[in-house]
Amino acid sequence: MSRLTGAGEQRGAEVIDEQGDTVPLPVVPPDDHPPQPLVRKLPPAFGPIVKKVALGLAICLVAGAGYAGLRQIADAPADPNSPVAQPPQTSTTPDEAAEGVRRAVAGEAVLQKMADAVENDNRTEFLATIDPRAAEFRAAARTIFANLTNLPIGSFTLRYVSDDTGALTPDRQAELGGSESWLAQVEVSWQLAGYDTKPAREMLPVTFVSRDGTTFAASFSERFVAGQRRPIWTLGPIDVAKSEHSLVISLGSESDAKTYLSVADRAAESVSEVWGKTNWRQKVIVYLPAKQAQMEAILGAAPNTYTQIAAVTMAELDTPQVGAPVRIVANPKLFEELGKQGRRIVLTHETTHVASTATASPVPLWLAEGFADYVAFTAVPVQDESAAKELFKAIRAGDVPATLPTTQSFAASAKDLPQAYESAWLACRLIAEREGQSKLVKFYRAVHASKSSTGLADAFKSVLDMTEAEFVVEWQKYLKRLAGV
Ligand SMILES: [Zn+2]
Repeated sequence: MSRLTGAGEQRGAEVIDEQGDTVPLPVVPPDDHPPQPLVRKLPPAFGPIVKKVALGLAICLVAGAGYAGLRQIADAPADPNSPVAQPPQTSTTPDEAAEGVRRAVAGEAVLQKMADAVENDNRTEFLATIDPRAAEFRAAARTIFANLTNLPIGSFTLRYVSDDTGALTPDRQAELGGSESWLAQVEVSWQLAGYDTKPAREMLPVTFVSRDGTTFAASFSERFVAGQRRPIWTLGPIDVAKSEHSLVISLGSESDAKTYLSVADRAAESVSEVWGKTNWRQKVIVYLPAKQAQMEAILGAAPNTYTQIAAVTMAELDTPQVGAPVRIVANPKLFEELGKQGRRIVLTHETTHVASTATASPVPLWLAEGFADYVAFTAVPVQDESAAKELFKAIRAGDVPATLPTTQSFAASAKDLPQAYESAWLACRLIAEREGQSKLVKFYRAVHASKSSTGLADAFKSVLDMTEAEFVVEWQKYLKRLAGV
């Protein structure tokens, strides 16, 4: 049994590749050797690989967070395009509003000290903002500070967005003590120097407590809302490995980070060979969680959503936009099982999404996924019979696809998901075989850059000199020929 499906993505914040059933893949020796017509079977040690896809929408954290309390603080969002939604308006009395503003000012002051301490690399000042009575959080804060020191942080800001006076139970408030305690939602923006052109953003729930006239932070994780993403540096001690093209941030071991560095570097090189070196920054950031739960926290997903997922490409923002910081989040357990070539295929596929900014692109899914698999299988060639197994089976049974795969056919639950990937990959390969690889890239770019609703049709005409319908006829013939019918 062997089969490889493509990988998936969504139009919103993240591109998701999911591992499903298991298959050994025949692979020809890549890279170090020129592509060979001879395909050799992999040793049994080569692990299973199948990618499925989960489609979803970008989660708007704030909309789901149900804020109450402070509505409008004096300072407007620093960035008018900030993805942070305004909390819903409810009526508050002037006294309540004034109290809210007072808390916001006190909270903001703590956050400013904290951000300054990160900027100035001053651990003592950072820890001075942490509640001396919150022993557990102080330990976590030490880790967070060490993590931030470990990362090439270019900018780091914390912005008080809203508070929720009803969020802390009386018991919790009693436990915190002090004259006052409350929970606020804080936007953290952080940029990795040399990698990010725009900062990553998450919302952190910050618990504040005031005692003896001083306000402290007492937690970063209270009442986390389902679907709320968490910055990787809040999840445990990280190890960071850096190379020319890659930054691997591991919640596991240093050796893990180093191992994946070379795979990510090769993936970046493979993508550059097709996509070009000058058309992207050639920088890949890979997150390597040690546990499933950490992966879910990074992605803002419900528990066990991603047990079968090999890797996810996500924009670390809540709204898709060009230039958003994009990370590949690996599932270390499944990555281990994939084996060396499988890891390269998955990382090359994901890196193609990174290079082509697939998290903020108008290209149809068949083109995004087909192209990513085209690049991956160009770097690590796989026998057609394996890589298009389900598709060939369907065609041999007389079921030739009538159209290019639709968006719906890439949904995780789609019945014919493997065929969608396989046929999308072969559509891209047909373009490359007929017109040359550079035409395929040109076609992709034309669709990607188009602002028009007819971008795809226009690119078919201007780049390939045919209509989509004409292409589909050619593609159907090609698929039948490959399937031997
Ligand atoms: Zn994909």
